[in-house]
Amino acid sequence: FAHEAASMAVLDIVTYPDPRLRENTFDVEEVDDGIRELVRDLTDTMYAHNGAGIAAIQVGRMERIFLIDGKVAGGDEDSEPVVFINPKIIAQSGGDDLGEEGCLSFPGVFVDVKRPRQARVRAMNVAGEMFEIEGDELLGRALQHEHDHLTGRLLIDMVGLVKKEMIKRKMKRWHTQQEREESA
Ligand code: ZN
Repeated sequence: FAHEAASMAVLDIVTYPDPRLRENTFDVEEVDDGIRELVRDLTDTMYAHNGAGIAAIQVGRMERIFLIDGKVAGGDEDSEPVVFINPKIIAQSGGDDLGEEGCLSFPGVFVDVKRPRQARVRAMNVAGEMFEIEGDELLGRALQHEHDHLTGRLLIDMVGLVKKEMIKRKMKRWHTQQEREESA
């Protein structure tokens, strides 16, 4: 009797201004073992970095997939992340709402972003079944933020000129710091 050990894979996060964050994504044709493995790795990676959500493009994969933390999606402490495969925003409503956002691809950056308060998303789960989720406030924001990744749109595209420059400077410093740590 052999029991397969649960392997954990924390993948490298692609950070701004890496051009891979702007690449075209594509729909998943079939949820196979490769996709299930990617979803497990995304889960490990999201939790290792304390993310509330993660998109496949943030680990350099172009499949249209994102995850949202189970608690953010309305579950309790132990809830599994909600997996969105080939997601589509089918409705946005409630007027513009200003709220703070961070992003795993912009470590240490938190900025106020204006978005519609509510969003409804239709997607496929890992069992290959279609489902819909509607969220407002934090969940609504997370759904729109993660969906933006699949169209190449990033946090920095959502703010004014002064904040754009601030983010660019902050990311430049962050990369310099990383290089120093790597060569140390
Ligand atoms: Zn993000």
